[in-house]
Amino acid sequence: MALSEFSLIQQYFSALGDASGIALGVGDDAALLNVPSGEQLVVTVDTLVAGVHFPADASSADIAHRSLRVNLSDIAAMGAEPRWFTLALTLPEARPSWLQSFAKALAEDAVAFNCALVGGDTTAGPLTITIQMMGTVPKGEGLTRSGASAGDSIYVTGSLGEGAAALSLFDTTLDNQGHSVVVEHERNRLLQRFYRPTPRLTEGLKLRGLASAALDISDGLLADLGHITASSGVGAEVKLEALPIAPWLQLLAEKSIVNRWALSGGDDYELCFTVPKANQDRVERLIAKGELSASCIGQITEQKGVRCIDEHGDLVHVPNSGYQHF
Ligand code: ADP
Ligand code: MG
Repeated sequence: MALSEFSLIQQYFSALGDASGIALGVGDDAALLNVPSGEQLVVTVDTLVAGVHFPADASSADIAHRSLRVNLSDIAAMGAEPRWFTLALTLPEARPSWLQSFAKALAEDAVAFNCALVGGDTTAGPLTITIQMMGTVPKGEGLTRSGASAGDSIYVTGSLGEGAAALSLFDTTLDNQGHSVVVEHERNRLLQRFYRPTPRLTEGLKLRGLASAALDISDGLLADLGHITASSGVGAEVKLEALPIAPWLQLLAEKSIVNRWALSGGDDYELCFTVPKANQDRVERLIAKGELSASCIGQITEQKGVRCIDEHGDLVHVPNSGYQHF
């Protein structure tokens, strides 16, 4: 059954999610949104192309979750709260079953993360999903990449490497090592991590006023930390033994590969942030109380560039190959 563009929008995208501040949502020429006074609008956009950013045969629910969550991750990295989003959808065909599970998954996440769809565009063509996410942050409190100073400590949330390990599943690197290596539940866990990364929104909020710089790790820790050091005019030293790598992940491949996943692989969507000495006790207390899942992995230095050191303090060369997406 073919759907007209109008009924497609009406049926699947007219009431999706929940958020305050919508004076006018889907259905007019544009949306009207009320930004609370004293707050700044935070805007980000990410495009996902089938066969480039996700395997072409991915389910529509998986695609929906990933499209929304990578954008939410950028909002988290700014220390902001998500509110509204727009959706530009390019579809090879308007298949109701595909659209139904896409919209359902998008709605689930929109509700879970307190944001609502307020408009978009629908066109025919190769499968491409563009979501523009809007959030708000109290004026001047947004976390940027440019505030790190020498002596600040470097932290990351959660654990690293699973995003890159998931990519290598598509890459058949792991498959080449034999299916026995990656058992079903590990495979599912990696795919879950890839398609449903957890946007670190609550962590981002807690870091307001504490972190001097922050970003989310989408291209790999070293590359992304390099954005903080370049923007801030400083350097960084990362202690390899301090990297938070899940024990089960360490068993999946040899140490050099796992380290490369954690350091140079993309798609983890954890936050990397820096903390000035004056705030470090407060951050450590949040961690000790279990209110913030984060680990200190190194220090910001005056010496430019990003360096890795081993447990003896010796410099380690890490090939920053970066994983090719598919
Ligand atoms: P216009 O011709 O004015 O650009 P459209 O016909 O493209 O308007 O869209 C009509 C309405 O439907 C607009 O409010 C638009 O924001 C909304 N819309 C279109 N596509 C989507 C979509 N994929 N998701 C949510 N809203 C959409
Ligand atoms: Mg119009």
